[in-house]
Amino acid sequence: MGLSRRGFLKVTGAGVAGMALGRLGIDLAPVSAYAAGLKIDGCKEFISICPFCSCGCNTLVYSKDGKIISIEGDPDYPISGGGLCAKGASLKSLHTSPERLTKPLYRAPGSDKWEEKPWDWMMERIAARIKETRDRDFKEKNAAGQVVNRVESMFHLGSSQVSNEEAAVLHQMVRALGIVHFDHQARICHSSTVPALAESFGRGAMTNHYTDIGNADAILIMGSNCAEHHPMTFKWVIKAKEKGAVVVHVDPKFSRTSARSTFHVPIRSGTDIAFLGGMVKYILEKKKYFEEYMMEYTNASFIVGEKFSFNDGLFSGFDPKTKKYDKSAWAFEKDETGLPKRDTTLKHPRCVYNLLKKHYDRYDTKTVSSVTGVSEKDILRVYDAYTATGRPDKAGTVIYALGWTQHSVGVQNIRLSAMVQLLLGNIGIAGGGINALRGEPNVQGTTDHALLYGYLPGYHNTPTANYQTVEDYIKSQTPATKDPKSVNWWGNRPKYIVSLLKAWYGDNATKENGFCYSLVPKLDPGMDCSHLYIFDRMYKGQIKGGTIFGHNPAQSIPNTHKVRKALNSLDWLVLGEVFHNETTDNWHAPGFDPKNVKTEVFLLPSAYRAEKDGTISNSGRWHMWHYKAVEPLGQSRNMGEMFVEIMNRVRALYAKGGTFPDPILKQDFPETFDADAVAKKCNGWFTKDVKIGDKEYKKGQQVPGFAQLADDGSTVSLCWVYCGGYPEAGNLAKRRDLTQTPMQAKIAMFPGFAWAWPMNRRVLYNRASVDPNGKPYNPEKVVIAWEDGKWVGDVPDGAAPPMAMDKGTYPFIMTTEGRSQLYGPGREDGPFPEHYEPAETPLVVNPFSKQMNNPCMKVIESDMDKLAKNADPRFPIVLTTYSLTEHWCSGSETRNGPALLEAEPQQYIEMSHELAKEKGIANGDVVDVESLRGTCQAVAMVTVRIRPFTVAGKTLHLVGMPFAFGWTKPKCGDSINRLTVSIGDPNTTIPEYKACLVNLRKAEKVTEL
Ligand code: SF4
Repeated sequence: MGLSRRGFLKVTGAGVAGMALGRLGIDLAPVSAYAAGLKIDGCKEFISICPFCSCGCNTLVYSKDGKIISIEGDPDYPISGGGLCAKGASLKSLHTSPERLTKPLYRAPGSDKWEEKPWDWMMERIAARIKETRDRDFKEKNAAGQVVNRVESMFHLGSSQVSNEEAAVLHQMVRALGIVHFDHQARICHSSTVPALAESFGRGAMTNHYTDIGNADAILIMGSNCAEHHPMTFKWVIKAKEKGAVVVHVDPKFSRTSARSTFHVPIRSGTDIAFLGGMVKYILEKKKYFEEYMMEYTNASFIVGEKFSFNDGLFSGFDPKTKKYDKSAWAFEKDETGLPKRDTTLKHPRCVYNLLKKHYDRYDTKTVSSVTGVSEKDILRVYDAYTATGRPDKAGTVIYALGWTQHSVGVQNIRLSAMVQLLLGNIGIAGGGINALRGEPNVQGTTDHALLYGYLPGYHNTPTANYQTVEDYIKSQTPATKDPKSVNWWGNRPKYIVSLLKAWYGDNATKENGFCYSLVPKLDPGMDCSHLYIFDRMYKGQIKGGTIFGHNPAQSIPNTHKVRKALNSLDWLVLGEVFHNETTDNWHAPGFDPKNVKTEVFLLPSAYRAEKDGTISNSGRWHMWHYKAVEPLGQSRNMGEMFVEIMNRVRALYAKGGTFPDPILKQDFPETFDADAVAKKCNGWFTKDVKIGDKEYKKGQQVPGFAQLADDGSTVSLCWVYCGGYPEAGNLAKRRDLTQTPMQAKIAMFPGFAWAWPMNRRVLYNRASVDPNGKPYNPEKVVIAWEDGKWVGDVPDGAAPPMAMDKGTYPFIMTTEGRSQLYGPGREDGPFPEHYEPAETPLVVNPFSKQMNNPCMKVIESDMDKLAKNADPRFPIVLTTYSLTEHWCSGSETRNGPALLEAEPQQYIEMSHELAKEKGIANGDVVDVESLRGTCQAVAMVTVRIRPFTVAGKTLHLVGMPFAFGWTKPKCGDSINRLTVSIGDPNTTIPEYKACLVNLRKAEKVTEL
């Protein structure tokens, strides 16, 4: 009998036990009948998705009589094959936990208790507080007298835990209210990714997808411990290794990832640019680059203008007063038609290739070793292994996570890896790319839907006050080129902006009124409303009330002492959560007397993943539907319902009068939340009958793809990148087709499973996997090929013929010039990444230049924000932070899972034997860890996994601590973010969690553990 894997599991019921016994030759029939009878007999089966990491593991939820009976991995999910890590395996206990919030809770100002209140009462009061604050503080004009229509005293934070549909209505609500202090977890985990990858390739997303990792010949894992933190990713690393790939782990500590890699190289936290800069030098000197790729598909031959220079750590155009660069000093030299000049001989001293060579000439192995603490032998071992992929028939992939993003040079860490990949010809190919392992399963989707102050859905900058009309705004955001071979896809931006405005304001948006653009709140140029600034302004009394959904900033934001104080200064706070956490209960946190906390707190119980339907987008951009298996527990509701009800109650209040009600009342906002209806609108439909080419579309018909969106108001779309995912044929996120062509099977591509943005393209920039005539560089691992006048394989990244052909176009369709960027003139801190020390550094000298730290880094200043001086003798040890397999992010959910807590029960600190000896600390001792911001207690784990480094000729110690613990539960350690610094990368203000200075000693008194 032919039996699929899933069929087999169904037959055997409990699966794993059944298979093990089967191998022993025991008759499975009674076992499977018993197991099935115990667990899933008579249950309904629903497909859901794990709510933790961005692997997005699909699950099978079995329910009976309205209750969850079992949650298991879905064997049909190509990435996991039915596997789940410890967190996924605990989903049933988390969904059914007695710790769940099941009733709305209210905490009155000054009160020391929660009170149960009806939903209706809560919603009415929340709407009233929002209106009262907005009416009082609405700002029509800024200090310069420009119209801004915004409210600065309210904020919204979170959440990467919501579905795409919930994110879409949330974004619409926030903009309608005029809120500009608007941010979510993407800021603190992967905000560095988008500007780095977009500057290099044109889009800010992970280029390939998880199953593609198995195609690599070399894998460089840096700033990630994916075996523990993205476990199902690692399955594909192992698959590649089994086929002969070399796997290199460069990371401060030895972990399970290191154990399964070919080799591990420890590196001092915060020195990745030095390490990768040395690799660029090695590639150029040893001619390891893929020459045709570099010449044809990158800007290596472009000539940079005369104003560019680099001197002792600073690029030209730096203003020491503002700590900003004038980026016009970095512009390309243009010809008379406005196109960048090129020198294809690579002889011009200012062509990108030569500037690159000159810039990284200083990054010799000896200096790199002295800065990073990696031995010269290990450095060369990594360079040699990885740069061997600079050939047409080899593929190297880069995997990273928060170890790269969370630095004051976070964006440039990733930029430099992109540059390495471009030199080696590793972008667009199977087994190549940059794999940004994102956080929660939907942080990709919530970034696409822009739960971020600085973007509108679909990666458009939020309008600033300098653009008062939609025409001016669109013009400022839409690049143009005269090069006929450059697709310049962002030239279509007006269609996406207008379709978004039409989706928000419906029939009220007309061409005559600029599609209601004037109602969208405007930022001042350069205004930063990200987490660090929100809490700074809150601390300084400028922010009075707001909403936090699915987020735990009282645990997870640096300098938590200040964050907690700031939160307790609010007049009112609305929270939506599945469990209590450090933020919901901050009003009675250690060190606060509830009597003195005047904040009115509304805590709304949220449905959990298996209790709601909608889509999420995993890190590889797979857009997948999850189904509601049971009703939400108790009185909990999904967040989409909460947002819609709050907004509609506010609308009802404004219908009776209030300050500037138009942005609220002119919204085309749903009356009730329906995930399917919102998903349809995210894709978008035609607002009237139209003819495009020879095709006719009727009013109300779904737009087939974003190429058909228009800038005349004839289409709506809440997020253009999702246009194509829900055409007339139906919701493609629900697809489960695993069939493959032989070509697809060879590279583990599953185009019929779910849908990937854009337009089901699985490998971004795939036209760079072929030569200029369309012939695959690697015939063994073909992504696409030009055959008989058409593309075959993956959905091509641009439909035009290959670039050498008539009407052919360049492969990087999202950059203005059509080429990827080795030289990137658009970032805040330089066109080439440069090594700077972390904001708190144990060094007195930066061997690469006189510029010690990133000259443009964002420094938050208040009486509670303190920064240790360079090589401060009081704090000689580098602290780095990380996640755990058993807990996710701040741990606010997973700390409620008994099995997870049993495995990882308390705060600890990993340190070397040498440091422990120096400090007189034994394994298991309780230790006080101290930084200039505060102290933290942890149990000492003395281990060989962390070794002392030799840096600048001296011994340097590094310690590591998990960031998942908090005071609410278990009572075994509070947040380590009481130690970390409020310093941000200049491009995105992502905080520098990964390197600050501390000291430690054996605790005299145990207070936290
Ligand atoms: S946490 Fe990640 S790897 Fe683990 S089960 Fe969930 S999605 Fe899969």
